[in-house]
Parts: sequence; structure tokens; C-alpha cells
Amino acid sequence: MAEIQSVGVIGAGQMGNGIAHVAAQAGLPVTLVDVNPAALEKALATIAKNMDRQVQKGALTAEAKAEALARITTATATESLAPCDIVIEAATEREETKIAIFKSVCAVLKPEAILASNTSSIPITRLAAATDRPERFIGMHFMNPVPVMKLVEIIRGIATSDATFAAVATLAGRLGKTTAVAQDYPAFIVNRVLIPMINEAVQTLQEGVGDVRSIDAAMKLGANHPMGPLELGDFIGLDTCLAIMRVLHEGMGDSKYRPSPLLVKYVEAGWLGRKAGKGFYDYSQTPPVPSR
Ligand code: NAD
Repeated sequence: MAEIQSVGVIGAGQMGNGIAHVAAQAGLPVTLVDVNPAALEKALATIAKNMDRQVQKGALTAEAKAEALARITTATATESLAPCDIVIEAATEREETKIAIFKSVCAVLKPEAILASNTSSIPITRLAAATDRPERFIGMHFMNPVPVMKLVEIIRGIATSDATFAAVATLAGRLGKTTAVAQDYPAFIVNRVLIPMINEAVQTLQEGVGDVRSIDAAMKLGANHPMGPLELGDFIGLDTCLAIMRVLHEGMGDSKYRPSPLLVKYVEAGWLGRKAGKGFYDYSQTPPVPSR
């Protein structure tokens, strides 16, 4: 495949709208697909709002914003992805959902087109094996929020070709991102290092080594982290953190990745972090205060 000239994105949630945003801003026509028309509407509104913020900061002109928005087409049917050079899947993190999506996309996609998944935790090699193009399948793991975060992890499945890798690395550069190349092992690089640290912070809390404020202050001021680990866990979502710990625990078969029982308890309580209004902090108050 020569250089990628058009992008399809499946899933118009938090990540999909960000990927559509950066691709359109980079001058590429984007087809954004979601089964839920309300998600598409919300995604377009979010993209416009986030671009407005860039305009206010002087990072984007009003004209460039209008042009970028005009490059995004939305659809509920995967057939609309037929002309795309690459389709980046950013749908719900469920293997059966993703595999069903790949089956329907492969049926319409041109043979030379590339398929990428933004999965945080499902093995790329396993997803690739469920498609008709394992050599043109790759992991493209964007960070949240996509327009702000500079990194894309590129994960090669066991069959991913050098040409696919090169085309995707070039695309990531065009989107203004720096890449880190990861092999296809559980949770790749960022989450393999980050989530066990958050889990350890929860274990530190469980053992009473420190309270919520002390643990976050210790890591912010003592390790120069912009956010404390418990605050960051709330931002990511404690259910997501737990799911990634379970992938590591199972995938590595090593007890050092055992999820903290206190993390399990918070998830069972529905205290999932910011999105639930409560996690290690209670967000009904400004500024948020520790929940317990
Ligand atoms: P989300 O719940 O915000 O969005 C998922 C979207 O997928 C929803 O709009 C849903 O309607 C849509 N969807 C579900 N089934 C579909 C189907 N069959 N066809 C088309 N659309 C479908 O989720 P998200 O946080 O954007 O995560 C998406 C992916 O990105 C997941 O694989 C996740 O692991 C990964 N990821 C998330 C983050 C994060 O911080 N949220 C970071 C990196 C990667």
C-alpha cells in the first residue's frame, strides 16, 4: 500500500471521536461509524467543542476547523468504509464485538486496506487471526484524550508485515503523534507499567501505609508525576484498571499482577471513578474529597 489517504474509524466513543478529530485535522477524509446514531451525534459535537478550544488557544484557525469538520462523514453501516485505506477499530472493549466488526468490515474492504485496533488489552495476534488479512492487521493504541496525548503505541502481531508497520508509522507521524513500538504481550508497554503502579497504590491504601491524600501527594511531589496514582485511577476508570490487571494476571500467570482486593471492592461498589461521580475521590464536591 502506498501512503494512507483515507481513514475509517469504528466506534464513536471517547477514543473514536478523538481519532477522527486528529485524522480530519491532519487533512485526511474520515468516515466515522457507530451502531448508535446518538453516539455519532455526540462525537461530532465533542469534536467541534474540542476544536473550538484549539481555536481559542490559537492552535487552529476557524477556517481550518471548518475544513476539518467537513472532512468527517458519519454512518451506521460498515459498508461506508469500503473506500478507506485504513480502518481503525475503537469500539467497546469486548472481543466478540470486535471480531464481529472485523468480519463485516473485511467483507467490504479492498484487499490492500489495513485494519487496526485501538484495543487496550486484547492480543493483536488473536484479533488478526479472526480476519482475512493478518499481515495487514496491527495495533494502534492511542492515549486518552487523543487530541492532547502525543503517544501512539504501535503493536505488531506475529503476522504483521513490514509494509503495514511502515504505512501505519507514517500515518501516526502525519497525525502529529510520536510512536513507541510494542510487541504483542499482555497490556503492551504503557498499561503494563502504569496499571500495576496504580494497583500498588491501592494496595498501599488497603494496608494503611498512607491515606488517599498522602499517597497522591507522595507520588506527585516525590516522583514528579502530574497526577497522583489514585487520582489517575479515578480518571482512567477503576473498572478499566481492574480489567487490565486481570489481563496481566492471566496473561503473565504471575502472582505479582494480582489485583488489589480493595480495587475489586471499589469496582463492586460501583465506585468506578470520575465517570461514576465517585472513586477514591468524591466528585460531588469541588474540589473533590477522599471518599473514605
Ligand atoms: P466508549 O464506550 O466510549 O465507545 C465505544 C463505542 O463503540 C460506543 O459509541 C459504542 O456505541 C460503539 N460500538 C459498540 N459496538 C459497536 C459495533 N458493533 N459497531 C460500531 N460501533 C460499536 O469506549 P472507548 O473508551 O472509546 O474505548 C474504545 C476502545 O479504545 C476500547 O477498545 C478501549 O480498550 C480502547 N482504549 C480506551 C482508552 C480510554 O482511556 N478510554 C484508551 C486507549 C484505548
